[in-house]
Amino acid sequence: MMREAIPDWLLTAAKRYNLTSLENRDAYAGLMAIPMNSLSEILDWTFRSLPDEILVGLDVDTEKMDYSDGLARYIGSSDEPGLFAGQGMLVGRPHLVNRGDSYEVHHVPEEWVDGLFSEDRGPRGGRFTHWLHTHPNAPAVPSGADAEAAQFTEGVDLILGVWFSPEGAAPWFDDVEGVRRPLTELPDEEDRPVIGRAVTGHRIHGVELIAFHRRGLAINVVLTDSDGIPIE
Ligand SMILES: [Zn+2]
Repeated sequence: MMREAIPDWLLTAAKRYNLTSLENRDAYAGLMAIPMNSLSEILDWTFRSLPDEILVGLDVDTEKMDYSDGLARYIGSSDEPGLFAGQGMLVGRPHLVNRGDSYEVHHVPEEWVDGLFSEDRGPRGGRFTHWLHTHPNAPAVPSGADAEAAQFTEGVDLILGVWFSPEGAAPWFDDVEGVRRPLTELPDEEDRPVIGRAVTGHRIHGVELIAFHRRGLAINVVLTDSDGIPIE
């Protein structure tokens, strides 16, 4: 894996994130793995697009179908085999599908997506296994609209919460019920540590990441190197 391309804060964050994934493995109905280079690319798009939300399509990496032994340790007692497409598998390169406000980002005309990806994804290119979208200045907890949209997902839906300032059109909003999965220390109104600065000029204060299945089940996420070995 090209570690030099992954920022230090993200590697440190991944180790902590995985530790929680391991400790809480019995709470999850399934597992998926995201390699750091894919996560890094998604974060880069996220930061470049602020204050907009982005929608990202993910497929599985068909060349790495087998669990690594390291990954198998993250499967807990509530695991339901065969729950979703791509379960236990590593995701491949992400595709940036859309960008906009929270309404427009989820309304992608199918023909438009087909045209956009037909070259590298074949005639049915609009379909992805998993979908990820961002929550600018809001917790990574599914909204009612997110739960509804997930009904069409064959894999799982992921939400990346990103906290930044100046807030502009995305004021901080954290009054939401649900389990939070911080990737970094989560900021609050009084304490806003700065992880870095986006090319847009925004200060980045925190990032969180969850995955969920359309039945409303939480899915465990493990961050790995490009061979599917968990970052520990
Ligand atoms: Zn959402």
